Amino acid sequence: MGNSIWKKNIRQLENDKIDEKNIDVLIIGGGLSGISTAFELRNSNLNICLIESNNIGSGATSLTTGKVTYLQNTIYTDLEKVHNFDISKKYLESQLYASKILKDNIKKYNINCDYIQNDSYIFSYKQEDKYKIDGEYNILKKMNIKSQIVNKLPIQFPCNYALKVSDTAVFNPVKYINSLIDIIKNKVKIYEHVRALKLTKENGYYIVNTTSGNIKAKYVVVSTQYPFFVIPGLIPFKTHIEKSHVVASKIPKTKTFNAISIGKQTYSIRYYNDKEPYIIFAGESYKMSNHIDYEQRQKELEIKFKELFNLNPEYRWSIHDITSNDLLPIIGEVSDNLIVSTAFNKWGMTNSILSGKIISDIILKNDNKYISLFNPKRKITIKRTINFVVDTFSAGKIFLLTKLNKNKSFYNDKVKFVNIGGKSYGIYIDNKKNKHIVRNLCPHMKCSLVFNFMDKTWDCPCHGSRYDIDGNVIKGPSSFDIKVDNKNNIN
Ligand SMILES: Cc1cc2nc3c(=O)[nH]c(=O)nc-3n(C[C@H](O)[C@H](O)[C@H](O)COP(=O)(O)OP(=O)(O)OC[C@H]3O[C@@H](n4cnc5c(N)ncnc54)[C@H](O)[C@@H]3O)c2cc1C
Repeated sequence: MGNSIWKKNIRQLENDKIDEKNIDVLIIGGGLSGISTAFELRNSNLNICLIESNNIGSGATSLTTGKVTYLQNTIYTDLEKVHNFDISKKYLESQLYASKILKDNIKKYNINCDYIQNDSYIFSYKQEDKYKIDGEYNILKKMNIKSQIVNKLPIQFPCNYALKVSDTAVFNPVKYINSLIDIIKNKVKIYEHVRALKLTKENGYYIVNTTSGNIKAKYVVVSTQYPFFVIPGLIPFKTHIEKSHVVASKIPKTKTFNAISIGKQTYSIRYYNDKEPYIIFAGESYKMSNHIDYEQRQKELEIKFKELFNLNPEYRWSIHDITSNDLLPIIGEVSDNLIVSTAFNKWGMTNSILSGKIISDIILKNDNKYISLFNPKRKITIKRTINFVVDTFSAGKIFLLTKLNKNKSFYNDKVKFVNIGGKSYGIYIDNKKNKHIVRNLCPHMKCSLVFNFMDKTWDCPCHGSRYDIDGNVIKGPSSFDIKVDNKNNIN
C-alpha cells in the first residue's frame, strides 16, 4: 500500500445503483486482469457486468512497476526444469502474444499511457549467479530469441554480468485501464465500491451476494488476485504470496531500459517520465508468511536506495502478488462457468492481458492454444511436489505462529492482544492513546492477524487480507469486516 506513483491517475467513476440482477457474465475485480476480460468481451452479445470493491485499478495494478517484458528473471530455464522445454517455449510465446495485444490496442485506440519501448535486462551482482544468466541466454537462443550478454547496465549499479533483450516496454497501467474503461463503458456495466461476499450455485446459475444485493449470472470471472472464496485443494495450496517494497524519486534524466536482478535478493529498476523524470526501484521481496516486520523491510529498501542512487524516496509503497508453485499463472475454469485469473508470479501486466483473451475465448467457445497451459486443474508436477509440501508446512507454521506468538517486543506496547471467553482481540493504541479494538481472526481461513506499522492496518500473513484499524476490510480475499460491536469488556 502506501502512496504509489500511479495512484493519482485512478479515477472515480459515477456509480449508478446496481440494477444488473440477471446477467450473462459477472466479472469480479477491476484490476488489469478483470478490465482486460471486459474489454475482450465487449463486442459479444453478452450482458456483462463488472464489480470492484474499491476504485477501478486501485489494487495491485496501481502498485506495480509496470514493465511489459518477456524477460522475467530466469523463467525459461526454471520452467524447463519444473516442466519441460515445450512448456517453457509456449510460455514465452504467450508473453510475446500478450505484449503484442497491448501494443496493438495502444496503436488502434490511440491510448495515451506513457508506453515506451525499451530494452530489458536481467543481471547478476554476484559471481556465483553468472551461470544462471548464461542458462537463460542459451535457452532463449534455442527459442530463436536474440539476446546479448553484457558486463554492465547502462547506469552505475552493482552488476557483473547481464543479459539484454529488445522490443520490451514500460507503461502506466492505470492510464491504460482508464482508456479501456472509456472504450467499454457503453457495453459493460461497471460498478465501483461493490464487494462480492459469497458465491453459490442454483439451477445452473451462480448467485453472488454483494454489498449491493445479489447478482445472478451464468458465468462468473474472479479476477480479485486471491479469490474471495476457498477452492479446496487449489488456490491456497498451489500458491503462496510474495510481498515487495517500492520507492520512486525524481532524477535529472530518464534512461531507456528496465532491469531486474537475479539471485537471492531481487532489485528492479525502471524509469518513468511523468512531466518530470522518475526512477522506480523495487526490492526486499519475501514470502509474506515468513516476515511481519514490513516497516523494517521498507526502511532497508530506502537505505539501499540512498546508498545506490543517493536519493530519498518521494513515493513509497508495498505490494504483494500471488505466486504459483509450478511457476505458471492460474487462468481458466475451476468448475463449470466459474473462471479465475490469478498467480501471475509478479508478471501480471502481460499475464493480465493474456488472461483477458483466454477467458473471453473460454466464454465465447473460441480456440485458444494457451487454455491448457494455464488450466487451474493441471496436476502439480512431481518435481514441484517437494515445494508444495514445504509451502504447505510454512503456511501451517505461520498459522500456528500467529496463534501462539504475538511478538510483544516488536509491538512495543502500541499493540495488545487479549483473550476473552476464548476469543482473541487485537488492540491498537494510537498516538493520542485512543484504543482501536478488532477481532483478531481473519474471516477468510481463520488465521490470526499481525499489525502492520507501516500502513497502520491489520494484515493476514497467510493469504494477504487487510483491515483498517477499526476492522473494516480493505483488501481481500476476505470479504468481511473484523469490527467488534460490544467493546465494553475489552481493554
Ligand atoms: C514488486 C512488484 C512489482 C511488479 N512489477 C510488475 C511489472 O513490472 N510487470 C508485470 O508484468 N507485473 C508486475 N507485477 C505484478 C502485477 O502488478 C500484478 O500481477 C497485477 O497487477 C495483478 O493484476 P490483477 O488485475 O490480477 O489484480 P488487482 O490489480 O489487484 O485487481 C484485483 C481487484 O479486485 C478487487 N477485489 C478484490 N476482492 C474483491 C471482491 N471480493 N469483490 C470485488 N472486488 C474485489 C480489488 O479491489 C482489486 O482492484 C509486480 C508485482 C510486484 C509484487
